[in-house]
Amino acid sequence: MGILEVKNVGKRFGGLQALGDVNLSIAENTVHAIIGPNGAGKSTLLNVLVGKLIPDTGSVMFDGQSVLGRKPHEINQMGISRVFQTPEIFADLTVLENVLIPCFAKRDGSYRLHALETVENEVDINEQAEKMLLDVNMQDKLHMTASSLSRGDKRRLEMAMCLVQEPRLLLLDEPTAGMARADTNNTIDLLKEIKDSRDITMAIIEHDMHVVFSLAERITVLAQGTPLVEDTPENIKGHPKVKEAYLGE
Ligand code: ADP
Ligand code: MG
Repeated sequence: MGILEVKNVGKRFGGLQALGDVNLSIAENTVHAIIGPNGAGKSTLLNVLVGKLIPDTGSVMFDGQSVLGRKPHEINQMGISRVFQTPEIFADLTVLENVLIPCFAKRDGSYRLHALETVENEVDINEQAEKMLLDVNMQDKLHMTASSLSRGDKRRLEMAMCLVQEPRLLLLDEPTAGMARADTNNTIDLLKEIKDSRDITMAIIEHDMHVVFSLAERITVLAQGTPLVEDTPENIKGHPKVKEAYLGE
């Protein structure tokens, strides 16, 4: 049994079958990539996993519990976190404040900006946030305004905001989209560090094959809403069906 078990999931938008019959098992503490051409259904699948879309058929189990029918914040509390294509940070707050907010949310069960007003008295929470920022190598940028960070650092900050909530499954939707090569490589290194330093499972949707082959231990190729093959990166590279459907050969 994987930590995430997707069985026979189908989703239709009007006349369009976005997901056909998706079966997917993600093993605990692995990095699993989902690749496929544009329109294959990758984002739709991710939206099902985080509760933003309800599928027409099938089941999604996370650690033995059904995800379907739960609200996004409930799924988040079950231990599933999502990193967006564009980092979702509070632009006007400092780096430290950005991480303090999810620290409060984890303790109090809800996001409250005004929790920051009394933060001086919260020794534990400050320590927790600073330790997290040390883990992502941002200890020198605690008091910088988030909007002034480089793209790579914004990604680091967003990652810190996610990780401080200690998710067991991190979903990444094209985490390096639009990044220059240097920031992409930084992000690969960051994800490797995160993976090596804690118990965490990652499901990553990514177009950049350099990123996929640098990180993934298993790869599922999605085409027209249905998994075509699932295998190790080595086998996926040489797979004739993958070359045909994905690499356009
Ligand atoms: P991918 O992320 O692999 O590029 P998507 O999951 O975004 O693919 O889309 C799969 C298919 O479903 C596409 O044909 C897309 O146009 C369609 N689709 C996605 N979301 C919607 C929606 N909300 N309404 C109608 N069609 C949609
Ligand atoms: Mg997409």
